[in-house]
Amino acid sequence: MDRAEETPTPVAVDPGRVVAVIFDCFGTLVPGTPLARRATDAGAVAGLLGVDPEAFHALLHLTFTERATGAMGDGIQVLRTLAARLGAFPSPADVAAAARLRRRQLRRDMRPRADALPTLVRLRASRYRLGLISDCGPEVPPIWASLPLAPLIEATVFSVDVGRRKPHPSLYWRVCDALAVEPSGCLYVGDGDSHELTGATRVGMAAVRLGADDPEATALVHYDHDTAWRGPVVTRLTEIPILLGADRGPTGEAPAVA
Ligand SMILES: [Mg+2]
Repeated sequence: MDRAEETPTPVAVDPGRVVAVIFDCFGTLVPGTPLARRATDAGAVAGLLGVDPEAFHALLHLTFTERATGAMGDGIQVLRTLAARLGAFPSPADVAAAARLRRRQLRRDMRPRADALPTLVRLRASRYRLGLISDCGPEVPPIWASLPLAPLIEATVFSVDVGRRKPHPSLYWRVCDALAVEPSGCLYVGDGDSHELTGATRVGMAAVRLGADDPEATALVHYDHDTAWRGPVVTRLTEIPILLGADRGPTGEAPAVA
């Protein structure tokens, strides 16, 4: 059975049922690494590790699932393992320097999209519960915690902590448990990587693809994209509160904050 045949019929977005909005991180709330910069960034880290830049870039891509499910350990262990697979055994100081550089690169690529903060503020003001599910490596959770978006998101689920990647249902269930909401009360919003939209639909959430049309978004690296998605698409995050009629709030109250 191919992916298209597996794709369930998307659940229609019924604003009256939605009490929580669950966001993806990379390509959705934050842009992530543009394709054009990916090789350069990997090459700079490879230089500190003393490995071939192109081979390191390719290995980073190939090991995404291992890194994003915690199977390769923390940021230092990841780089040490990748270097060893390429036949190099850099000193602890060189591995630490490479890990610092990689964190700086990720922090730069996690600068929130311009409409992310206003969208989250609007949704919280309208009393929606907010969650995050991200497929990510071990460097990402501490960087996320430092972002201005973090205090607005009540429940975060990172694949590296769960040991599973989207679209595994355990990640969706975990965010629902943390928010004390049912999947049927959730709207999932993501750019569609990791088959995350069909995964959300499969557990009973409504889902919307963010098909941002800005140059930053169209140049992103994609993993296991939800190419067969037949559900709703928005081009800006600010369309999400409008889609939900967020001026009224989930139960019809006026928002607490403008
Ligand atoms: Mg994404």
